[in-house]
Amino acid sequence: MYPRIVADISKLQDNYRFIKKELDYLDLFVVTKCFSSHPTLIKAIYDAGIRNFADSRILNIKTIKETVSDATTMLLRLPAFSEIEDVIKYADISLNSELETINKLNIEAKKQNIVHKIILMIDLGDLREGIMYNSDYINFISEVLKLDNIELHGIGTNVTCYGAIIPSKETLEILVNIKNEVKEKLNYDIKVISGGNSSSYHLHLKNELPKEINNLRIGEVVVLGSESAYGQQVKGIHRDVFKLETEVIEVKDKPSHPIGEIGVNAFGEKLEYLDKGIHRRAIVSIGRQDVHHDNLYPSKGITIIGSSSDHLILEVDESINVGDIITFDVEYASLLMLYTSKYVYKIFK
Ligand SMILES: *Cc1c(COP(=O)(O)O)cnc(C)c1O
Repeated sequence: MYPRIVADISKLQDNYRFIKKELDYLDLFVVTKCFSSHPTLIKAIYDAGIRNFADSRILNIKTIKETVSDATTMLLRLPAFSEIEDVIKYADISLNSELETINKLNIEAKKQNIVHKIILMIDLGDLREGIMYNSDYINFISEVLKLDNIELHGIGTNVTCYGAIIPSKETLEILVNIKNEVKEKLNYDIKVISGGNSSSYHLHLKNELPKEINNLRIGEVVVLGSESAYGQQVKGIHRDVFKLETEVIEVKDKPSHPIGEIGVNAFGEKLEYLDKGIHRRAIVSIGRQDVHHDNLYPSKGITIIGSSSDHLILEVDESINVGDIITFDVEYASLLMLYTSKYVYKIFK
């Protein structure tokens, strides 16, 4: 059945073995959200030797715990009040930035009779989550240290997600300074400094990761082989683990410019249509309900024209016929959506 996203398990396992070896001097958490923590892939990665898993959705964290019960799980997105009970139940560690939430986690952890670990997120300027690096974190941390069922496991940061800030040695040293100040003022040893995601990988490559950074949360590098600070290809990682296969349902020679008055399309967008005369167009049965066409890469000779909810339109040559299978390379954003869509079959080879 099509469309389908095909994952090459042995290539994926190679990637995880490689990254584990490469980053063996720190506590590596692999981030599995881009394939919705699919149980088949979680098992495969576990078999490749990975024990620490991180995901931003609590539903995915639950899947991981139920698939590989002795794995350590980290919830990446700040817990919502409505999911506190599940966070305590399924996540061993959660990232946090709100005292009110941490208090609720403490109460629930007491109820479930466990100590829950948190990593306090510090915003170094990327402006997504975290308390600002120049705010009164000493007071914040002293409040956290009063809680019986919360362990302040570490501090961490997230960069290059919203503000597209590229982490440098200097930015990450702000975290080291915070750790040192907490030791000095509160006499508390912060064990873990989590230095970010795939965009910190370039510091590892350049040997510039401060030695106190002893934790990274890595998704994109290991899944797709691209380092997300500068978009460079990482040697040693297979980039072609995932392929999208779609099926052609129409091929016709048609004008390249719509006929009649042009308004807005099905998504409220007003597009420019280039007039290239009559050309050969193919439709494949996938659409924006499953993936955005900007995040797909067809093979040579095929150009993406656009898509609506259920149809992706391509410019093709004479060689393409109805019923043919057209394959696309994917990237992070497309993978995320394709694994989320229930209309896309998940195939493992
Ligand atoms: C998604 C996410 C990551 C992983 O990012 P990659 O770029 O895939 O390595 C790490 N940390 C947080 C908080 C995230 O949301």
